[in-house]
Amino acid sequence: MKHSALFLILLLFALPLFGEGKFVVIIDPGHGGNNIGAVSGELVEKDLTLDLAKRVGELFRKRPYKNLKLLYTRQQDVSFPIKKRVTFISETEPDLVVSLHFNSQKVLTTNRGFEIYYPSDFLNTDAKNAAFYYDRANRSFLYAQIFQDVYAKRNIEKVWKLPFNMVSQRENLMIFDDTRSPSLLLEIAYLTSPEDRACIENPEFLDDIATYIHDAIAAVLIYNKNLKTEK
Ligand SMILES: [Zn+2]
Repeated sequence: MKHSALFLILLLFALPLFGEGKFVVIIDPGHGGNNIGAVSGELVEKDLTLDLAKRVGELFRKRPYKNLKLLYTRQQDVSFPIKKRVTFISETEPDLVVSLHFNSQKVLTTNRGFEIYYPSDFLNTDAKNAAFYYDRANRSFLYAQIFQDVYAKRNIEKVWKLPFNMVSQRENLMIFDDTRSPSLLLEIAYLTSPEDRACIENPEFLDDIATYIHDAIAAVLIYNKNLKTEK
């Protein structure tokens, strides 16, 4: 009896540990509710980002990864102010944040293509956590490179003629503020570009981009798992 009670106590202490070791990813569909984001004709950014996030989620339901825990900042058309998103991300401390957006140009319609942004540590003045922010910038860059790699492997540029424009550091994006997690912000395509619009309006495009994001997240997961087994 004593032994089983002891076992029960040990089990209770050990239980929270079973949840650990999972790679936590937050998918952040940009905008929502009153904050509609970019608009061009019928295309509205807040709807496209949510649609894309749902497709990515559906793919992970079909092809799940045991070590992956997927969370969302929103799963409906609701307003979720950026400060609250940052707080949610800071409190959750995921291993990766993937923020989804669609771009637009103010006057011209010449800009087009897919872009990835990741946080910089240039403006960080928090000396106590300098190493942490340096690591976040490096890790984010590494994951951005994995995303770039999968973009090439999945032939998105050739199939959709959607150029991969850049991977660059940004220090002035709120979603990167105060969050200690490696983060990527994807600008999928320009709503204002006629060529990009033609892609978005094709029903197969979002499916293809969702598969790409699924595969890129899986590649990051596999990369981290490999790191763990190397140790
Ligand atoms: Zn946006």
